[in-house]
Amino acid sequence: LRPRAGPTPVASLSALARLLSSLAVLEQREGKLLGGSLGTVTAAQKLGGSITAFIAGGNIKAVAEEAAKVAGVEKVIAIDNVAYDKGLPENYAPLLVENIKKGGFTHIIAGHTAFGKGLMPRVAALLDSQQISDITAIEDEKTFVRPVYAGNAIATVESSDDIKIITIRGTAFPAAAAEGGSATLEDGVDPKSETSTEWVSENLAKSDRPDLATASKVVSGGRGLKSKEEFDRVMLPLADALGAAVGASRAAVDSGYADNSLQVGQTGKVVAPQLYLCAGISGAIQHLAGMKDSKVIAAINKDPDAPIFQVADVGLVGDLFEKVPELTKKLKK
Ligand code: FAD
Repeated sequence: LRPRAGPTPVASLSALARLLSSLAVLEQREGKLLGGSLGTVTAAQKLGGSITAFIAGGNIKAVAEEAAKVAGVEKVIAIDNVAYDKGLPENYAPLLVENIKKGGFTHIIAGHTAFGKGLMPRVAALLDSQQISDITAIEDEKTFVRPVYAGNAIATVESSDDIKIITIRGTAFPAAAAEGGSATLEDGVDPKSETSTEWVSENLAKSDRPDLATASKVVSGGRGLKSKEEFDRVMLPLADALGAAVGASRAAVDSGYADNSLQVGQTGKVVAPQLYLCAGISGAIQHLAGMKDSKVIAAINKDPDAPIFQVADVGLVGDLFEKVPELTKKLKK
């Protein structure tokens, strides 16, 4: 994966950094800048060079002004067009490509979110570049680290493309400070491309609980909960007592105990909270891929040999229907 060995001399690296020009693709929803997407600015800061933020949607002015205050951002390109509100990749990709060509950027960075995963491969294809997905670290301007095989191996990849198209893992790049910058606002180009894709509707799960992807505490339940009624009865009071977001294993989601949006793991969300407390989850590698970077992992399982105990900092062997309510009661006190 690394065709040429040997370090790059420091002098030439800093000379290169001056030529670097990153475009951080920010996300907004209903006129609000999504804080999670500011990890793209952090990644751009790690690369060095100039940083421009990109945002598009209807009535974008307020969001663009918010983006201009983000620490480290020098310019904001804002496209005011309601057609980009929902971030449909089919029309957003040509828009981004036109602006990349105009701005002459060397690195395009988006989050490895549903939006970024839909958009960036299209952008890469249109620019004839290789997509570099889900990176967790930047070694230098062309060398990136990314997990493969559900996090069981770490690949270091080097790209010789002129324009690097990158998505970042949110848990590896904390959001840049929302205040402290004073970027200039610039109009971009809007190709107003015709597409055959049209936004029809969306059905979003609504919750007053903290957002799973960014919460500092997560309480997660698995197949051991046995039913949706028991999942709600046992796990939700624990989440409330801790002020935690709720997560679930895929088995729990597939069995209908929890909403799809709550799935943690390889094919769900990747989280790295301060505390990940799980009950009735065995610890399959696909689940671990989504939570093993949590700072403290606590697990409740009746099977002392469950693999989850191999990654847990704190383990409790016992029946969750007894232990979780007991813990909730103590926490409430
Ligand atoms: P199980 O493995 O059935 O474990 C249930 C656990 O509950 C057991 O350890 C049992 O001892 C314990 N238990 C039962 N009753 C009690 C009780 N009363 N008290 C205490 N403990 C109890 N999985 C994910 O989670 N996320 C993913 O993103 C994901 N992606 C996948 C992608 C692919 C391509 C594949 C093939 C699989 C994926 N999976 C994923 C599925 C994964 O392999 C496991 O099947 C799943 O994680 C198991 O969920 P679980 O731990 O809840 O259930």
